[in-house]
Amino acid sequence: MSSNPAPGKGNTSSLPGMWSQVGQKVWHHWQRTAAQLPSQCAVCHAWPAQRVCNDCVARFAQPRPRCPTCAMPLAQATVRCGECLSRPPLLDGCVAAVDYGFPWSGVLSGFKFHGDPSWANALALLIRSTPWAEPALEAAGLVLPLPLSPQRLRQRGFNQSLLLARHLAPEKTDATLLLRLHHTPAQSSLGRAQRLLNLEGAFALEPTRASAVRGQRIVLVDDVMTTGATLHSAAAVLRQAGAAHVSALVVARTRTPDLDSDECMAL
Ligand SMILES: [Zn+2]
Ligand SMILES: [Zn+2]
Repeated sequence: MSSNPAPGKGNTSSLPGMWSQVGQKVWHHWQRTAAQLPSQCAVCHAWPAQRVCNDCVARFAQPRPRCPTCAMPLAQATVRCGECLSRPPLLDGCVAAVDYGFPWSGVLSGFKFHGDPSWANALALLIRSTPWAEPALEAAGLVLPLPLSPQRLRQRGFNQSLLLARHLAPEKTDATLLLRLHHTPAQSSLGRAQRLLNLEGAFALEPTRASAVRGQRIVLVDDVMTTGATLHSAAAVLRQAGAAHVSALVVARTRTPDLDSDECMAL
């Protein structure tokens, strides 16, 4: 049993100590509840507002030039980044709404760990308002959320990418075609080639429906893109099955490949 006696109170069973604990619980509950109120901005706490108010979106989600195939920020959006030019990625295109950082890292963490459906709507809106996202969705025949492994899905109880995909394109979203066969260990200490190797065999298509991919334009949806190894691994499976075009839409892109979302967000 762990107990934290209030300073000078001897033990937690004393009335002031108990009231202090009750007060703390009420306060934490209020903070959690307030954060979920649709009428309060989760970033600046202004209200009435959407989940993230227009001022905060304008301040923290300004579209910026990005590499069209890996979404890394660039000085100009007209050409691919050096990395993509020297080693063309398995994705034909990639759109990220924001950089992974304040306030979105906290927002995404809350979305993922609390599974608040109203966050899915707000974050999908953020993606939708990013240049090139809407045309990619319109041209897509299939929208596939990055799947979780059965083990991870059991732990979390929901797939955050599926929630996003359903808000982006409910009629095109297919949550059972692309499968994640096993959980991948944290990849932060691995190089690019090793990451891809680590993910080898992680994805597969549902065997009886693999032909549904042939000739299709496919959009993959994920919450955070770090090195891109996970998306590339999924894209490789889709290409092998004959997909005509594979792109990705993500909420946030990390700017430092070292920061792996498997590490920082326990994917
Ligand atoms: Zn705000
Ligand atoms: Zn690039």
